[in-house]
Amino acid sequence: MGLITDTLQTYLPSKRKHTPSGWISFNAPCCDDKRQRGGFIVNAGDAVSYHCFNCGFKCSWQPGRHISQKMNQFMRNLNIPDDTIAQLRLEALRLDDNNTTEIRSIIPKFDSRALPLDAISFEELTTFLKLPDGDYAVPTKFAESVAYLVDRKIDPFEYPFYWTNKVGFNNRIIIPFLYKGEIVGWTARAINDAKPKYLSEQQPGYVFNLDRQQDDRAFVIVSEGPFDALSINGCALLGAEIKDSQNWLLKQLGKELVLVPDRDAAGKATLEQALELGWSVSMPNWPDGVKDINDAVVKLGRLATLWLIVSAKESNNLKIQLRAKKWFNE
Ligand SMILES: [Zn+2]
Repeated sequence: MGLITDTLQTYLPSKRKHTPSGWISFNAPCCDDKRQRGGFIVNAGDAVSYHCFNCGFKCSWQPGRHISQKMNQFMRNLNIPDDTIAQLRLEALRLDDNNTTEIRSIIPKFDSRALPLDAISFEELTTFLKLPDGDYAVPTKFAESVAYLVDRKIDPFEYPFYWTNKVGFNNRIIIPFLYKGEIVGWTARAINDAKPKYLSEQQPGYVFNLDRQQDDRAFVIVSEGPFDALSINGCALLGAEIKDSQNWLLKQLGKELVLVPDRDAAGKATLEQALELGWSVSMPNWPDGVKDINDAVVKLGRLATLWLIVSAKESNNLKIQLRAKKWFNE
């Protein structure tokens, strides 16, 4: 039988009866029932239904369908852990043949387009620095890229940045998006005033820098942009919206999630979403002239920035709302 049906059966109350017609009955977890009036049945094709003959609560699921709000409620009533429920929801999506785009968006897969043709990593490029005098075309651009990163207080060797001579890319630092070590997309940031600032190949649902959250920090700092994330080794949403799959991927880390929102209208919406998802939020007391995490790192250094973020970390909704009023209007 399938994962969803199996898991549901495992979590049904252990005190249960099987009827000849196939129902499993037990004390209904949806209400205060002591007469085993909850009924669960597995139908043909791995479909399941639950009926409470005490309070009237009903829910069902069959392969090809999403897990409904009511089924979700039933799973919670059975004390199925949240992350298991998240896995089952994902499994339901996976089984949904009509919804392949949505499935693709859940877990980033290796993207064969990978990087722009002839993109070269800094590590490879360092050999060019040793070339004899006179052959500076590549190393000059390389040096500009390194200077850009150093200006932003980002160690060029801490992340596998790329750089290419390709037209349209030659004044850009390419930040590959890695997932379990594979390149699944990238963004190319202009190091001059070129527009647009970022050129990207990005799959929805991807969380930037997830691979590098294996340290012993008890929390993960989540921001919007990749440079903010890189400057403190946090994660980035690469947009203002927290997608379901991003929430799921981040929760898999088993750490406290701390959003540092951008200080604009979109950032305010991100904060509201984070609250609904049970994340913590940090709106640090930045010194004058500091507008975001990367800015803070440039002016104060990494440790002081981390300290400011962590000491402003808050999980109480009311306190967050009060702080937000001030922080976004300052
Ligand atoms: Zn009930």
